[in-house]
Amino acid sequence: MATKGKITIDQGLCKSCELCISVCPEEAIRIAGALNQKGYHPAEFFKETCRGCSLCAVMCPEIAIEVFRG
Ligand code: SF4
Ligand code: SF4
Repeated sequence: MATKGKITIDQGLCKSCELCISVCPEEAIRIAGALNQKGYHPAEFFKETCRGCSLCAVMCPEIAIEVFRG
């Protein structure tokens, strides 16, 4: 069975650079409709297909993503 994972994104830190979206092999991250306190549309996790690969967290320049595997 494939590894399952999930992530949390600190939406207050996100600057909407979309790097996490560009690297996610499962297309599990999208841009939210609402704005954060900084005026950016933050990234949000929206699919249970995450495999916990951590690519998104490694790419994030704001260190806004935490990955959980299990
Ligand atoms: S850990 Fe991997 S699969 Fe999961 S959201 Fe991040 S890039 Fe996508
Ligand atoms: S890489 Fe980080 S700052 Fe860029 S959109 Fe994703 S969560 Fe936001």
